[in-house]
Amino acid sequence: MTTPTDERTSYAPWNWHPPLPLEGAPVLVFPPRPLKALRWLLSVGFLWSFLAPYTATALLTWFLLQQPLADCAVLAPGWILVVLGRNLALMLVIAGGLHLYLHRWRRQGSTHRYETRELGRNDPRFLGRDQVIDNMAWSLVSGVVLWSAIEVLFLHAYANGALPVLAWSTHPIWFAALFLAIPFWQSAHFFVIHRLLHGRALYRWVHAVHHRNVAIGPWSGISMHPVEHLLYFSSVAIHLVLPSSPLHVIFHMQFLVFGAVQSHCGFADLVVRGRRTLALGDFFHQLHHRYFNCNYGADYVQLDRWSGSFHDGTAEATRRLARGNRGD
Ligand SMILES: [Zn+2]
Ligand SMILES: [Zn+2]
Repeated sequence: MTTPTDERTSYAPWNWHPPLPLEGAPVLVFPPRPLKALRWLLSVGFLWSFLAPYTATALLTWFLLQQPLADCAVLAPGWILVVLGRNLALMLVIAGGLHLYLHRWRRQGSTHRYETRELGRNDPRFLGRDQVIDNMAWSLVSGVVLWSAIEVLFLHAYANGALPVLAWSTHPIWFAALFLAIPFWQSAHFFVIHRLLHGRALYRWVHAVHHRNVAIGPWSGISMHPVEHLLYFSSVAIHLVLPSSPLHVIFHMQFLVFGAVQSHCGFADLVVRGRRTLALGDFFHQLHHRYFNCNYGADYVQLDRWSGSFHDGTAEATRRLARGNRGD
């Protein structure tokens, strides 16, 4: 059953969707549109819902939940367990909290929910025949462990002076700008690895784990096969050559993990007492989960538009992509 929430629900396949056709971020476009780009960068949908919260979480992690970097020079169980424990706790609070609020307690009903199809229960495709249990298992057992292992290796390398460093004290502007650049780099990297994952063998053995989730929730975000986790997290390899800091790596990893949790919520926004307080879901990626052969990247860099796999949410785009017509 659908529960229309406003006049934009007239497009039948969805309970709710943003204005269509989707436009994409007006930042890396030609000809340049500087004013529009600036407005987008300062918008609720980017700055206040993704960039600022994850910068804050990374700062909190670095200053309150991280042992001194000098301690990381030796691989010892104490500080490694701190990294694992904090990441586990952050994941349980953020993904668990969003799941309970939106899907278990249904605190905002179907308001700004893309589709009302429920998460799978008694479904043999999922571990324990339950989508949430299945998604939590892949996310926590593989996702959080590999995320933590990568952070540990980077912290260990920084502590031993093995990586190029960018310091706030000497280059504050570049230091801050790197936080802004990471989401765009990650978007382009995701497009490339996601196209690879849709190759026949990698899809069958690896990416199918993620695509069993057609209806999606917060725990679906990094519900992936370990090989996909490694490919997805390999976005941080840029810091092996680009002067950065441990704080940038922590931010980058949290953006990868929590960005996916948030964008798979199934709801466009967090609505509290009738007011939109935070942008959550990503309709662009929701289209990928439903139609499969479209929208491989994230919406920050418009590689799908340039390569002909862009689905703008309209019925015409569904027909065009179904015909395999790449002449966008
Ligand atoms: Zn896919
Ligand atoms: Zn997904």
